[in-house]
Amino acid sequence: MSSRLDRTFASMLDIKKIRADFPILNREVNGRPLIYFDNAATSQKPIQVIDKIVEYYTMYNANIHRGVHALSQEATDLFEQSRGKIRAFFNIPLAKQVIFTSGNTHSINAVASGAHVFVKKGDEVIVSAVEHHSNIVPWQMLCERVGATLKVIPVLDNGQLDMEAYHKLLNDKTAFVVVNHVSNALGVTNPVKEIIDAAHEFDAMTLIDGAQSCGHMKLDLQALNADFYTMSGHKMCGPTGIGVLYGKEEALNALPPYQGGGEMIDQVTFEKTTYAGLPHKFEAGTPNIAGGIALGAAVDYLNHVGMDNIAAYEHELLVYGTEQIKTIPGATIYGDVTDKAAVISFNVASLHPYDIGTIVDKLGVAVRTGHHCAQPVMERFEIPGTIRASFAFYNTKEEIDVMVQALQRAVNMLS
Ligand code: PLP
Repeated sequence: MSSRLDRTFASMLDIKKIRADFPILNREVNGRPLIYFDNAATSQKPIQVIDKIVEYYTMYNANIHRGVHALSQEATDLFEQSRGKIRAFFNIPLAKQVIFTSGNTHSINAVASGAHVFVKKGDEVIVSAVEHHSNIVPWQMLCERVGATLKVIPVLDNGQLDMEAYHKLLNDKTAFVVVNHVSNALGVTNPVKEIIDAAHEFDAMTLIDGAQSCGHMKLDLQALNADFYTMSGHKMCGPTGIGVLYGKEEALNALPPYQGGGEMIDQVTFEKTTYAGLPHKFEAGTPNIAGGIALGAAVDYLNHVGMDNIAAYEHELLVYGTEQIKTIPGATIYGDVTDKAAVISFNVASLHPYDIGTIVDKLGVAVRTGHHCAQPVMERFEIPGTIRASFAFYNTKEEIDVMVQALQRAVNMLS
C-alpha cells in the first residue's frame, strides 16, 4: 500500500496542485470520490482548457480566415497560434503540416480515403493485430476500393508485435504500413521507429496512430520520420471534436483532399476547381475553432507540467498498479511487459469484465470494460473483453489502492 502521495516525484510534480486544476476530480460518483481510470478513452480537462473554451465564446466568437473585422482577426490569430504551439510540441517542421481534424478517426480516414495515390491494385497494406477499429476499417475500405490486400502483423502472447513476422511480411508490393504507437487495448508500446525504417526500405508509406501516445510521452515527429501521424485532442487534455493530422510536406501535397467545400479551395469554376495549399486543403468548412484554440491551451498545460515528468510519473503508476492488481487471486494481465503506457488490461479468473466494472463503478471507480474497439485483439487472446485501468498524471497510488480494494470486493461478490 502507498503511504502518502508519491514521494519520488513530489519534487517534480506537485500532484495535489495538479489535481486542483481538474475540477471534475472534485466530484463524487455514487456517493464516493470519483476515481477516474478511463484515461485511455478520454483524458480529463484542466480548468485552463475549460476557461479557454468559455473565453472564445464570450470574447471573440467569430469565423476565422474570412473576416476583416477585429473579432475574426483575433479568433484567427489565436487559432493559428495554437497550430504553432502544436507544431513546436511535436517538433513538426512547419505549422502548415499541422492539419486540424475532428479527431484521430477523422485524421486516419483523411489519409486512407486519398491513399489510392499511394496504394494500387495488387499492392499490400500492412496493419497490426493490435489496432483500434479506427486503424483497420479505413484501410480495409481502401483495399476494397483499389484491389489491394490487407496483411496483418501478428501479436505475441506477451502483447508485443511479432517483429520477425513483420520483417517477413514486407516485400516490393508493400505500399503502406499502419500501426498504432501504443495499443489502446493492451497499453504495449510498439517499436514504431523500427517499423517505419523497415517500411521505408521498401519505399512504403507509413502512418502511425498516436491516439494513446500523444499526451503521455515526448514525441519528436521529425526524428520518428513517419509519413503521417494522427492524434486526438481529447486524449491529451484538450476538448473533444478536435484532432491533428501531421504529414510530411511531400506526403500531404501528394494526398488528395478528403472533403470539398469552403476554405479548401484556391479558385472555383464550374469547369475546374484548384485547391488551396497546406493546411487549408484539408480543412474544408468552418473548423472547431474553440476546440483548436483550447487544444493550444492543453499543449501549454502539458508543457508546464513537463512531458518527461508526465511519462516518468505515469510509469511509476503503471508499475505500482501492475504489482497491486497481481495481488488479486486469479488476475491475468494482457500485455504485461515493461515497455508500455500506463494502461493495464486484465481479467480476473473467468468473471465477466462487465460485471466487475459495474460493481466497481458503484464504489466510485471508473474503469473501461469490453473489447476497447479492438475486437481482433480480443479474439487473438480468446476473451470477450478485459477490464482496462488507464492512468494519467493526475492520478495517485492511493487511488490505485482504492481501485484494488473495490476490485477485490467485486470479485468476492461474484465468486
Ligand atoms: N486509435 C486508438 C489507438 C485509440 O485508442 C482510439 C480511441 O480510443 C482511436 C484510434 C480513435 O480515436 P477517436 O475516437 O478520438 O477518433
